[in-house]
Amino acid sequence: MIQDPKLLAETLNAEFHDLTPLERLLQLREKVKGRIVFTTSLGIEDQMLTHLIFANAIKIEVVTLDTGRLFPETYDVWRKTEEKYGKRIHAKYPRAEALETLIEEQGIDGFYYAKEFRLACCGVRKVEPLKRALDGASAWVTGLRADQSANRHDMDFVGYDSVRKLVKTNPIFDWSRPRVADYVERHGVPINALHAKGFPSIGCAPCTRAVQPGEPERAGRWWWEDDTKRECGLHVPDPDPAAVSEGAGI
Ligand code: SF4
Repeated sequence: MIQDPKLLAETLNAEFHDLTPLERLLQLREKVKGRIVFTTSLGIEDQMLTHLIFANAIKIEVVTLDTGRLFPETYDVWRKTEEKYGKRIHAKYPRAEALETLIEEQGIDGFYYAKEFRLACCGVRKVEPLKRALDGASAWVTGLRADQSANRHDMDFVGYDSVRKLVKTNPIFDWSRPRVADYVERHGVPINALHAKGFPSIGCAPCTRAVQPGEPERAGRWWWEDDTKRECGLHVPDPDPAAVSEGAGI
Protein backbone atom coordinates (compact mmCIF):
# COMPACT_ATOMS: atom_id res chain seq x y z
CA MET A 1 0.00 0.00 0.00
CA ILE A 2 1.33 3.46 -0.94
CA GLN A 3 1.73 5.57 2.21
CA ASP A 4 2.61 8.97 0.73
CA PRO A 5 -0.76 10.63 -0.06
CA LYS A 6 0.64 12.76 -2.89
CA LEU A 7 2.11 9.73 -4.61
CA LEU A 8 -1.08 7.81 -3.95
CA ALA A 9 -3.13 10.59 -5.57
CA GLU A 10 -0.89 10.57 -8.65
CA THR A 11 -1.06 6.79 -8.93
CA LEU A 12 -4.83 6.68 -8.55
CA ASN A 13 -5.27 9.50 -11.01
CA ALA A 14 -3.37 7.57 -13.68
CA GLU A 15 -5.28 4.37 -12.94
CA PHE A 16 -8.71 6.01 -12.89
CA HIS A 17 -8.67 6.98 -16.55
CA ASP A 18 -9.52 3.52 -17.81
CA LEU A 19 -11.92 2.49 -15.04
CA THR A 20 -15.67 2.73 -14.52
CA PRO A 21 -16.95 4.85 -11.59
CA LEU A 22 -17.64 1.69 -9.58
CA GLU A 23 -14.15 0.37 -10.26
CA ARG A 24 -12.73 3.73 -9.21
CA LEU A 25 -14.56 3.62 -5.89
CA LEU A 26 -13.45 0.05 -5.27
CA GLN A 27 -9.88 0.90 -6.21
CA LEU A 28 -9.96 3.88 -3.87
CA ARG A 29 -11.25 1.76 -0.99
CA GLU A 30 -8.59 -0.84 -1.65
CA LYS A 31 -5.69 1.60 -1.90
CA VAL A 32 -6.58 4.11 0.83
CA LYS A 33 -6.04 3.30 4.45
CA GLY A 34 -8.43 4.99 6.88
CA ARG A 35 -11.70 6.84 6.53
CA ILE A 36 -13.06 7.83 3.15
CA VAL A 37 -15.83 10.42 3.17
CA PHE A 38 -18.21 11.15 0.30
CA THR A 39 -19.95 14.52 0.68
CA THR A 40 -23.27 14.56 -1.12
CA SER A 41 -25.47 17.49 -2.09
CA LEU A 42 -28.16 14.94 -2.98
CA GLY A 43 -28.00 16.24 -6.57
CA ILE A 44 -28.17 13.82 -9.49
CA GLU A 45 -24.40 13.18 -9.79
CA ASP A 46 -24.10 12.58 -6.07
CA GLN A 47 -27.12 10.28 -6.11
CA MET A 48 -25.34 8.13 -8.68
CA LEU A 49 -22.33 7.85 -6.38
CA THR A 50 -24.51 7.17 -3.32
CA HIS A 51 -26.16 4.37 -5.30
CA LEU A 52 -22.79 2.84 -6.19
CA ILE A 53 -21.55 3.06 -2.60
CA PHE A 54 -24.70 1.74 -0.93
CA ALA A 55 -25.65 -0.90 -3.51
CA ASN A 56 -22.14 -2.35 -3.42
CA ALA A 57 -21.65 -1.96 0.35
CA ILE A 58 -18.41 -0.02 -0.12
CA LYS A 59 -17.00 1.25 3.16
CA ILE A 60 -17.21 4.93 2.34
CA GLU A 61 -19.11 7.30 4.66
CA VAL A 62 -21.89 9.23 2.93
CA VAL A 63 -22.28 12.66 4.51
CA THR A 64 -24.39 15.67 3.63
CA LEU A 65 -24.22 19.25 4.86
CA ASP A 66 -27.63 20.41 6.04
CA THR A 67 -27.35 24.17 5.85
CA GLY A 68 -30.85 24.68 7.23
CA ARG A 69 -31.86 26.43 3.98
CA LEU A 70 -32.38 23.43 1.70
CA PHE A 71 -35.41 22.88 -0.53
CA PRO A 72 -38.20 20.57 0.74
CA GLU A 73 -37.52 18.44 -2.36
CA THR A 74 -33.95 17.89 -1.15
CA TYR A 75 -35.17 16.49 2.16
CA ASP A 76 -37.58 14.27 0.20
CA VAL A 77 -34.79 12.70 -1.85
CA TRP A 78 -32.65 12.33 1.29
CA ARG A 79 -35.44 10.35 3.02
CA LYS A 80 -36.26 8.28 -0.09
CA THR A 81 -32.60 7.34 -0.49
CA GLU A 82 -32.33 6.13 3.09
CA GLU A 83 -35.55 4.15 2.64
CA LYS A 84 -34.41 2.56 -0.62
CA TYR A 85 -30.97 1.45 0.53
CA GLY A 86 -31.63 1.01 4.26
CA LYS A 87 -28.56 3.10 5.04
CA ARG A 88 -28.01 6.37 6.83
CA ILE A 89 -26.80 9.52 5.13
CA HIS A 90 -24.90 11.24 7.92
CA ALA A 91 -25.46 14.96 8.42
CA LYS A 92 -23.35 17.85 9.56
CA TYR A 93 -25.02 21.06 10.78
CA PRO A 94 -23.78 24.60 11.29
CA ARG A 95 -22.57 25.49 14.77
CA ALA A 96 -25.52 27.10 16.58
CA GLU A 97 -23.56 29.99 18.07
CA ALA A 98 -21.86 30.88 14.80
CA LEU A 99 -25.22 30.82 13.03
CA GLU A 100 -26.84 33.04 15.63
CA THR A 101 -24.01 35.54 15.32
CA LEU A 102 -24.25 35.49 11.51
CA ILE A 103 -28.00 36.21 11.53
CA GLU A 104 -27.52 38.91 14.15
CA GLU A 105 -24.89 40.61 12.01
CA GLN A 106 -26.38 40.35 8.52
CA GLY A 107 -30.04 39.42 8.92
CA ILE A 108 -31.84 36.29 7.77
CA ASP A 109 -31.09 36.74 4.04
CA GLY A 110 -27.97 38.88 4.27
CA PHE A 111 -26.33 37.03 1.37
CA TYR A 112 -28.41 39.07 -1.10
CA TYR A 113 -26.83 42.35 0.00
CA ALA A 114 -23.09 41.78 -0.31
CA LYS A 115 -20.78 39.08 -1.57
CA GLU A 116 -18.86 39.12 1.69
CA PHE A 117 -22.12 38.35 3.51
CA ARG A 118 -22.74 35.47 1.14
CA LEU A 119 -19.27 34.08 1.70
CA ALA A 120 -19.74 34.44 5.45
CA CYS A 121 -23.03 32.52 5.25
CA CYS A 122 -21.47 29.75 3.14
CA GLY A 123 -18.60 29.73 5.63
CA VAL A 124 -20.85 29.11 8.62
CA ARG A 125 -23.38 26.84 6.93
CA LYS A 126 -21.10 24.84 4.61
CA VAL A 127 -17.36 25.32 4.86
CA GLU A 128 -16.99 24.88 8.62
CA PRO A 129 -19.31 21.82 8.75
CA LEU A 130 -17.41 20.39 5.78
CA LYS A 131 -14.19 20.74 7.73
CA ARG A 132 -15.69 18.70 10.56
CA ALA A 133 -17.03 16.12 8.10
CA LEU A 134 -13.55 15.63 6.68
CA ASP A 135 -11.62 15.80 9.97
CA GLY A 136 -9.42 12.72 10.21
CA ALA A 137 -10.41 11.40 6.77
CA SER A 138 -7.76 10.03 4.43
CA ALA A 139 -9.76 10.63 1.28
CA TRP A 140 -12.67 12.75 0.08
CA VAL A 141 -15.04 11.68 -2.68
CA THR A 142 -17.08 14.24 -4.64
CA GLY A 143 -19.49 14.12 -7.55
CA LEU A 144 -17.77 16.85 -9.56
CA ARG A 145 -17.79 16.64 -13.34
CA ALA A 146 -15.33 18.40 -15.59
CA ASP A 147 -17.87 20.37 -17.59
CA GLN A 148 -19.93 21.78 -14.73
CA SER A 149 -18.29 25.18 -14.41
CA ALA A 150 -15.26 27.15 -15.50
CA ASN A 151 -12.78 26.38 -12.75
CA ARG A 152 -13.50 22.66 -12.76
CA HIS A 153 -11.48 22.27 -15.93
CA ASP A 154 -8.40 22.72 -13.75
CA MET A 155 -9.24 19.61 -11.73
CA ASP A 156 -8.73 15.93 -12.40
CA PHE A 157 -9.94 12.50 -11.26
CA VAL A 158 -7.70 12.50 -8.21
CA GLY A 159 -5.56 15.14 -6.59
CA TYR A 160 -3.88 15.88 -3.31
CA ASP A 161 -5.67 18.55 -1.28
CA SER A 162 -2.76 20.19 0.46
CA VAL A 163 -4.94 22.33 2.72
CA ARG A 164 -7.12 19.54 4.01
CA LYS A 165 -4.25 17.06 3.69
CA LEU A 166 -6.16 14.31 2.00
CA VAL A 167 -6.66 12.64 -1.32
CA LYS A 168 -9.56 14.21 -3.20
CA THR A 169 -11.29 12.11 -5.82
CA ASN A 170 -13.91 12.80 -8.45
CA PRO A 171 -14.99 9.35 -9.73
CA ILE A 172 -17.45 10.64 -12.35
CA PHE A 173 -15.23 13.48 -13.51
CA ASP A 174 -15.37 12.34 -17.15
CA TRP A 175 -19.12 11.70 -17.23
CA SER A 176 -21.57 13.99 -18.98
CA ARG A 177 -24.84 15.09 -17.49
CA PRO A 178 -26.98 13.03 -19.95
CA ARG A 179 -24.90 9.95 -19.20
CA VAL A 180 -25.46 10.37 -15.46
CA ALA A 181 -29.19 10.98 -16.04
CA ASP A 182 -29.44 7.84 -18.15
CA TYR A 183 -27.60 5.81 -15.50
CA VAL A 184 -29.80 6.88 -12.59
CA GLU A 185 -32.96 6.29 -14.60
CA ARG A 186 -31.90 2.78 -15.61
CA HIS A 187 -30.99 1.91 -12.01
CA GLY A 188 -34.04 3.45 -10.34
CA VAL A 189 -31.97 5.85 -8.27
CA PRO A 190 -34.08 8.47 -6.43
CA ILE A 191 -33.41 11.97 -7.68
CA ASN A 192 -34.45 15.46 -6.63
CA ALA A 193 -37.79 16.44 -8.21
CA LEU A 194 -36.38 19.91 -8.94
CA HIS A 195 -34.10 18.52 -11.66
CA ALA A 196 -37.21 18.06 -13.86
CA LYS A 197 -38.19 21.68 -13.22
CA GLY A 198 -35.10 23.36 -14.67
CA PHE A 199 -32.74 23.04 -11.72
CA PRO A 200 -29.58 21.24 -12.91
CA SER A 201 -27.60 22.32 -9.83
CA ILE A 202 -29.42 22.43 -6.49
CA GLY A 203 -28.08 24.15 -3.42
CA CYS A 204 -29.76 26.27 -0.77
CA ALA A 205 -33.30 27.37 -1.66
CA PRO A 206 -32.78 31.15 -1.47
CA CYS A 207 -29.59 30.91 -3.54
CA THR A 208 -30.72 28.59 -6.34
CA ARG A 209 -33.13 29.17 -9.18
CA ALA A 210 -34.06 27.36 -12.38
CA VAL A 211 -31.98 27.99 -15.50
CA GLN A 212 -33.13 28.58 -19.06
CA PRO A 213 -32.35 26.01 -21.78
CA GLY A 214 -28.78 26.55 -22.99
CA GLU A 215 -27.62 28.36 -19.85
CA PRO A 216 -24.64 26.90 -17.95
CA GLU A 217 -25.56 24.34 -15.28
CA ARG A 218 -24.52 26.56 -12.41
CA ALA A 219 -26.09 29.74 -13.78
CA GLY A 220 -28.90 29.39 -11.27
CA ARG A 221 -26.58 29.52 -8.27
CA TRP A 222 -26.01 32.97 -6.67
CA TRP A 223 -27.40 34.44 -9.89
CA TRP A 224 -27.43 37.97 -8.53
CA GLU A 225 -23.62 37.97 -8.38
CA ASP A 226 -21.83 38.93 -11.57
CA ASP A 227 -19.24 36.18 -11.71
CA THR A 228 -18.26 33.55 -14.21
CA LYS A 229 -17.18 31.17 -11.47
CA ARG A 230 -19.78 31.22 -8.73
CA GLU A 231 -18.78 28.83 -6.03
CA CYS A 232 -19.05 28.46 -2.30
CA GLY A 233 -15.56 27.60 -1.16
CA LEU A 234 -15.96 23.84 -0.76
CA HIS A 235 -13.86 22.71 -3.71
CA VAL A 236 -11.14 25.30 -3.67
CA PRO A 237 -7.67 24.90 -2.21
CA ASP A 238 -8.22 27.53 0.50
CA PRO A 239 -11.25 26.61 2.61
CA ASP A 240 -11.47 30.04 4.28
CA PRO A 241 -14.62 31.59 2.72
CA ALA A 242 -13.38 35.08 3.43
CA ALA A 243 -10.29 34.39 1.37
CA VAL A 244 -11.91 32.75 -1.61
CA SER A 245 -13.95 34.17 -4.38
CA GLU A 246 -14.29 30.92 -6.21
CA GLY A 247 -14.84 27.32 -5.36
CA ALA A 248 -17.67 24.99 -5.99
CA GLY A 249 -20.16 23.21 -4.16
CA ILE A 250 -22.94 21.72 -2.37
FE1 SF4 B 1 -26.02 30.74 2.82
FE2 SF4 B 1 -26.86 30.82 0.29
FE3 SF4 B 1 -24.41 29.88 0.91
FE4 SF4 B 1 -26.63 28.50 1.53
S1 SF4 B 1 -25.83 28.97 -0.54
S2 SF4 B 1 -24.90 28.79 2.81
S3 SF4 B 1 -28.06 30.16 2.11
S4 SF4 B 1 -25.17 31.99 1.13
